[in-house]
Amino acid sequence: MATAAAAAGIATEWHAGTVHCAPRRPVPARLLALDFLRHGAKLTTRLPGMKIITDERCTGYSAPGHPERPERIRSTLAKLRAQKELPVSWVKPIPADDEALLRAHTPEHLARLADPVDFDADTPFFPQIAGYARASVGAALTALAAARNGEPVFSLMRPPGHHAMRARAMGFCYLNNIAIAALAALATGTRRVAVYDFDVHHGNGTEAILLNQPGTAFFSIHQFPCYPGTGTRNLGNNCFNYPVPPQTPRIEYRHILSSAFEHLQAFKPELVAVSAGFDCYARDPLAQETLEAEDFYWLGQTFRSLGVPVLSLLEGGYSDDLPELILAYLRGLSGT
Ligand SMILES: [Zn+2]
Repeated sequence: MATAAAAAGIATEWHAGTVHCAPRRPVPARLLALDFLRHGAKLTTRLPGMKIITDERCTGYSAPGHPERPERIRSTLAKLRAQKELPVSWVKPIPADDEALLRAHTPEHLARLADPVDFDADTPFFPQIAGYARASVGAALTALAAARNGEPVFSLMRPPGHHAMRARAMGFCYLNNIAIAALAALATGTRRVAVYDFDVHHGNGTEAILLNQPGTAFFSIHQFPCYPGTGTRNLGNNCFNYPVPPQTPRIEYRHILSSAFEHLQAFKPELVAVSAGFDCYARDPLAQETLEAEDFYWLGQTFRSLGVPVLSLLEGGYSDDLPELILAYLRGLSGT
């Protein structure tokens, strides 16, 4: 049985010695010169591609038969490492401090994560889950920094976050990564932050945390009826829900995604945080929607076209095809 102290110890261990960014490999001058000769174009050292924030240790917890399983990350890492079409740079998460967490969660909730009792039937307690959840938040904050630096970026971590409420873990989520990142952006100078959540489940935790929060807008496109049973109507002055019936034809689903995107554009965000859930895929075991890999490519392209910093965090997606769906999205995002 884990104790609070053990959980805190692991939280430290998670980060000890791993806080570094992968050094950007310098491009040899010879290659740059060749490139210049070949294209006669302006020299540039910025390679196209994608920064991926990940730490393989996020595969270290599991429950038998649980759909939110380590293989989701392992198989995606294998796919991204083996492919050649998308240049990838790999970055470890920075630690998340309490100040960032407490913008979205209560102190009691942070303490509860160390209490070895299941949160609900979907959301078990795991030894060291506080450390895992903090590392996932750290990845979101690292992604925020990269996005502000103009880099296409994706956080490939677990646990996901968008169901986590201010004072309650639920739906495989312990800390709300995206809400914490959005509030961190606001607290450090960004004036208008939009969250776009295309996970097939309603981002109820994000909605509850950002509700009526000045400078934020939340857009969720999700199947209804479906878990968690919320998101049927807009809430407050900044939370906009797009419930989609099960088995909605792809074309229609894309139309609804587009409507939400236009709504987001009208908000004129300076920064967009995307809850990227791939469980609206046609063959996902947890929902009944219809999207295909090319729809995720299109979503990536759509965000790229915004021309503002975009960070994307992995939420759900439970089919064995998850690695291909993520790669399609990242190719769209990076323009490759
Ligand atoms: Zn989901």
